[in-house]
Amino acid sequence: MKKILHIQRSDTPHWVGDGFPVRTIFTYQDLAPHMSPFLLMDYAGPVEFTPSEHRRGVGEHPHRGFETVTIVYSGEVEHRDSSGGGGLIKAGDVQWMTAASGLVHEEKHGADFAKNGGLFEMVQLWVNLPKKDKMNKPRYQGIRNSDIPEVLLQGGKLRVIAGSYLATKGPAITHSEMNLWDMRLAKGSKNIFSVPEGHTASVFVLSGSIKLNEDKTVGAAELALMETAGQTFEIEALEDTKMLFLGGAPLNEPIVGYGPFVMNSQMEIRQAFDDFESGKMGRL
Ligand code: MN
Repeated sequence: MKKILHIQRSDTPHWVGDGFPVRTIFTYQDLAPHMSPFLLMDYAGPVEFTPSEHRRGVGEHPHRGFETVTIVYSGEVEHRDSSGGGGLIKAGDVQWMTAASGLVHEEKHGADFAKNGGLFEMVQLWVNLPKKDKMNKPRYQGIRNSDIPEVLLQGGKLRVIAGSYLATKGPAITHSEMNLWDMRLAKGSKNIFSVPEGHTASVFVLSGSIKLNEDKTVGAAELALMETAGQTFEIEALEDTKMLFLGGAPLNEPIVGYGPFVMNSQMEIRQAFDDFESGKMGRL
């Protein structure tokens, strides 16, 4: 069984633009070696928005060197970027945006959601790119709820967003080996999972609570990370639980980030600022 290294929680929310009240659950500044290739997780909501004529969100801003992966649990997010990518994603959908060499984008609530209001809940992950792929052309994958295969567990289900679970493969095209599973577990269920030796592995509980490896209790808005050694972990749901599993082959490359850019060296960060300011990442 994999050993549990640490349980992390953040209760200090901040706003991203005027649309996303988020808690930053981890960043590469604190947990880089244990989370690779994942760089950051923002957990937005759950929060109730009142109907509004104004579409809330975050305006035009750049990214370079990684991917943003947005998982919508409730509400609607609309995206538009300077490479021509974009779309509306709703509950159960996932947007996998590869910024790579750079783009500018905006992220807003969907028009219908803004007009009607309602419950909003979303996770946004930043996923690192291997050095060799950081300057690739940007790409946008709009992954529909119906594109994501679902596997039955003992007292639950698991949706494979990226990577695989047993013989079931997820739809996301990735640049390195990783597994991203959206899981729902009924109270009292117990399942053992297996991942490749040497992979990072962590679980994030959105709601409910679990007992991990017959050892630690992990509750809502908490992330538990495990060591890379070993292949199995066990989850017992103490309540009906909604959670995310993240794991992958660590990239083992230097991480140098500043604001919306994550590269391998200071020089590349300076270049990213120059390229953004001179319009090389495009405009909306
Ligand atoms: Mn962004």
